[in-house]
Amino acid sequence: MTDNININEIKSKIENLRRKVRYYAEKYYVNDAPEISDYDYDMMFRELQELESQYPEFDDPASPTKRVGGKPLEKFEKVTHEVKMGSLADVFSFEELTDFIRRVKEDLRQSGESGEVLFTVEPKIDGLSVSLKYENGIFTVGATRGDGTVGENVTQNLKTVRSIPLKLNEITDTLTVRGEVFMPRDAFNRQNEIRESSGETLWANPRNAAAGSLRQLDSKITASRGLDIFVFNYQAGNLYPNNVMPLSHSETIDRMKKLGFHTIDILALSSDEDEIVSAIRKLGEMRDSLPYDIDGAVVKVDSISMREKLGEGTSTPKWAAAYKYPPEQKRTKLLDITVKVGRTGVLTPNAVLEPVRLAGTTVSRATLHNIDIIRERDIRIGDTVIIQKAGDIIPEIVGSVPELRKGDEKVYELPKVCPSCGEPVYFDDCGYDDSSDDFEPEDFKEGGAVRCINASCPAQLSRNIAHFASKGAMNIDGMGPKIIQALLDAGLISDAADLYYLKDREEEVASLERMGPKSASNLIAAIEKSKTAGAARLLYALGIRHTGEIASAEIMAKFEDIENLFSATVEDLCEIEDIGEITAKTITAYFSRSETRSMIDRLEAAGVVTVCGKVKDTENSERFKGMTFVLTGTLPTMTRDEASAIIKANGGKVTGSVSSKTTFVLAGDAAGSKLDKANALGITVINEAEFIDMLK
Ligand code: NAD
Repeated sequence: MTDNININEIKSKIENLRRKVRYYAEKYYVNDAPEISDYDYDMMFRELQELESQYPEFDDPASPTKRVGGKPLEKFEKVTHEVKMGSLADVFSFEELTDFIRRVKEDLRQSGESGEVLFTVEPKIDGLSVSLKYENGIFTVGATRGDGTVGENVTQNLKTVRSIPLKLNEITDTLTVRGEVFMPRDAFNRQNEIRESSGETLWANPRNAAAGSLRQLDSKITASRGLDIFVFNYQAGNLYPNNVMPLSHSETIDRMKKLGFHTIDILALSSDEDEIVSAIRKLGEMRDSLPYDIDGAVVKVDSISMREKLGEGTSTPKWAAAYKYPPEQKRTKLLDITVKVGRTGVLTPNAVLEPVRLAGTTVSRATLHNIDIIRERDIRIGDTVIIQKAGDIIPEIVGSVPELRKGDEKVYELPKVCPSCGEPVYFDDCGYDDSSDDFEPEDFKEGGAVRCINASCPAQLSRNIAHFASKGAMNIDGMGPKIIQALLDAGLISDAADLYYLKDREEEVASLERMGPKSASNLIAAIEKSKTAGAARLLYALGIRHTGEIASAEIMAKFEDIENLFSATVEDLCEIEDIGEITAKTITAYFSRSETRSMIDRLEAAGVVTVCGKVKDTENSERFKGMTFVLTGTLPTMTRDEASAIIKANGGKVTGSVSSKTTFVLAGDAAGSKLDKANALGITVINEAEFIDMLK
């Protein structure tokens, strides 16, 4: 029994790690907007790899460890790579690197190789990988790595990178090479200055800036970004006009240089472990003074025939390893701690630091994440602290240096009231709900967060109203973030309920910038229409934490009238299958506040439907009456919200977890444990096409 529990815990740990890695990889590769440091990502990735190799019974071919990079974007034509563009296996210490070198030598000896095994050492440029194809000496196709098999055709944009030759110095019939496009630090700083002055969000690091600049639909934008390239690999075709095949990697680099490419520097060519390690150390020391970012050093077997003998792993070659440098750290003084209220109401402590140079930029602020971290790391105002910029994103405080204390350092406590609205704040001890499909990254980032739950808090107001008006909620057409901000700034609204009183102030709405009488009247008509969205949507629209669309529908199916939620207890709410104690507590806390009482009163007085069964919808059918659906994975064309809406409009029910009461599981790509459970219980699993057929 104990074993069973442990094994289940491990399985769910693996699944959670896969989910997190997938989420962060998408932010990084597809959106060019990382949310965590590379170091944290690498550690998470490695933990997953280790668990997967320890527990092969949970193997999954769709695991992010078996894949490379991200999906190609829809907006570019796709290119299938003639040679797969893999990634590199990482090592994080010199011991691991030496093990790699010894293993390679041993494997080659076992395969009958008697020659000296030489390794090259190169800088690992922190940019994005591209392939460049030449036909009869002319550059014809350039593509991003994408998922390693299919990339994006960015030829026009690559043509604007001056160091990419459009014509080779010598003609060969076809040739494909691979390189790393990067943004030199100077260009990066310039780009961020421009972005800052025009109020745009800054690039997190040169790697994301390079990726974002290369994946532009307008090549003129790419041309203005100062990108450069280091070509580091010969992929396919002929390097020589007479079709002679190269024997070593170092030979291909020399040859590619002669053909006109800006090639990577080979810093060492050796079979000696100490020499290899010392070349990497030396590069590490120079790291800060290089004009571009590197995140490691790459060690590769030089001989091409030896590489062939060693072969490839699932997504990385067996003949290369990337040594990743530990994040750079510096000491400085913690001058103060300030608090920011985020758009979700979380209070985040921020460090004010004595400015210090770190990894190429001056750092004077750092995030402290949450109060637990401040306590765990014993960080006091006035302390000398160690900061690091892992992966060059937001600097963070690693810890304090207590031996340098003078005695006047101050222990920090978070304020008991929200610094933005003055309402009491709540400790959020919920960690994250791993059974929920409504996965929000903040659910696992926060740990013990302190949160302001006042819906009218100015720091959160515009986001809360935007959620209230959003499609899945009250669906108020035309109520975008700019209009909401303008209404707030003009003092026309101070919470969501005020929207329903705007009809008495139509002229003032019309006088707002970029509004006019017609838009104002359309907006007010859309607000009026939303009154009949229904009680379940209204509950969802209130934006109570952990209370998504499905939960709201289930709650209202039981409680029928929003009014009943004011007297509902945690136990009452927990009777609903998918509602856990954390959600129940959040809901009761929300309905115990006087602000909630006043908002609901004003909504009711304005005629907003707060009771179930009062919405007439003539288009609805009873096709799915008595049926319960569970949705899982990514559907090819519909969002899960759309599918849920269709099911509900046809009389069906949507729940969050599979049980014997489930009629159908509608599964898309990367469906996880719900699919397994459906199979185990013998529930019919349908795909999107079958679902659409059922509607015909
Ligand atoms: P990788 O960075 O581990 O290494 C492979 C890449 O290195 C190659 O694709 C190539 O583009 C590049 N490279 C640069 N110089 C090279 C050289 N001299 N020789 C060979 N290759 C060279 O692998 P990856 O799959 O590109 O990306 C994984 C990295 O991305 C991780 O290190 C991770 O830190 C980062 N990442 C970060 C986040 C995040 O949220 N911060 C998310 C996903 C990935």
